[in-house]
Amino acid sequence: MKKNIDPVPIKDIFHKFIIEDLDIKGKKVFIRVDFNVPLDDNLQIPDDTRIRSALPTINYAIDEGAKVILSSHLGRPKGKVDPRFSLAPVAKRLQRLLNKKVIFAPDCIGSQVEGLVSKMNAGDVLLLENLRYHPEEEKNGEEFARALANLADFYVNDAFGAAHRAHASIVGIPKFLTSAAGFLLKKEIEYLKGAIDNPVKPFVAILGGAKVSGKIGVLENISDRVDKVIVGGGIAYTFIKAMGYEVGNSLVEDDMIETAQKIRKKLKSVGIKFYLPVDCVIAQSTEPGTVKKIVPTLEIPKEWKALDIGPASARLFSEVIEDAKTILWNGPMGVFEIDEFSRGTFAIARSVADAYALTIVGGGDTDLAVHRAGVSDAITFISTGGGASLQLLEGKELPGIAALTNKEVT
Ligand code: AMP
Repeated sequence: MKKNIDPVPIKDIFHKFIIEDLDIKGKKVFIRVDFNVPLDDNLQIPDDTRIRSALPTINYAIDEGAKVILSSHLGRPKGKVDPRFSLAPVAKRLQRLLNKKVIFAPDCIGSQVEGLVSKMNAGDVLLLENLRYHPEEEKNGEEFARALANLADFYVNDAFGAAHRAHASIVGIPKFLTSAAGFLLKKEIEYLKGAIDNPVKPFVAILGGAKVSGKIGVLENISDRVDKVIVGGGIAYTFIKAMGYEVGNSLVEDDMIETAQKIRKKLKSVGIKFYLPVDCVIAQSTEPGTVKKIVPTLEIPKEWKALDIGPASARLFSEVIEDAKTILWNGPMGVFEIDEFSRGTFAIARSVADAYALTIVGGGDTDLAVHRAGVSDAITFISTGGGASLQLLEGKELPGIAALTNKEVT
């Protein structure tokens, strides 16, 4: 992992307890993790990144001699017990990763769980069954939150991917227990807030993907700090249409045209450079093997849609990226899931990886794109949360962070 430029130290931006602030020796610590891993048809885990991401916090709690109670949701069982969404396979994988016994509880509350907790020794690890087997989890039921809180002495949130949800295990339990952030949550905030709020300049933001509405809030939030903005992917065509040009059948969010025009003018008025694709790869459908062409962006014929940035745009964007010192990238440059339209995204992934800069990649699709491009090790920080990272980049406080205990108060 490259570390050319360090982000702003956490102490300057984070006024909540972190796990190191708690005296957890011999205490029961409830750690909310994000073990919402993909499961295949045989209930095997093809990608255990989410489990691995929580290991620093879990290992710290074990080493400090805490009784470690882990809890997560998995999938959408809709408030009912459904073996397809059991955390049992996660318990097995975690046991292998920790090289240590993991006790698996058949539920997350109730007398059986309380019995298992009462028998725990310092350093033991217990994983509770899926929180979402109970409808009260998503409804933030107070009694449910109290029952979870009653299992422990302290609460730690290390589930960044769920920190934007006001669920019982995220905002309910902290009402009853002293609460702190885990190392993953801390790191996400350090990069997505610390580094973005006080960027080393020049600061370049690269935005792409399909939904303009999801990215406008980010643009607005960084508009007083960013030096250059690159817009690619499907969202570019709403901006181009807003400028009065034909975009054929390309993705356009009609109700965002006015907003797109406004934000572009606002950025221009304060001297921020704003780059859109100058050429694009077009086709009439996304079917693999479909006929594709490269055309200047202002010459997209009717019936055709732009599905990737073209080679001239990739070169232009790479030149802009080259002298950046901080880069934020959220959203692919095209429909990269299909080989024919993946080159633009992969070219930008390589340029971001090559830049001598602090590079931050927003979660979800962009994370997948840098992995597929084979450059994930050369990115400074890849966020583990899609919705949560966007909310943080929009400058909003996440409910899961707001709920933690303030350092000054206690
Ligand atoms: P988002 O969640 O808004 O970041 O959108 C990610 C999705 O945008 C990916 O699944 C891409 O396939 C899609 N996407 C990127 N560029 C385009 C485009 N030019 N036209 C249609 N979809 C696109």
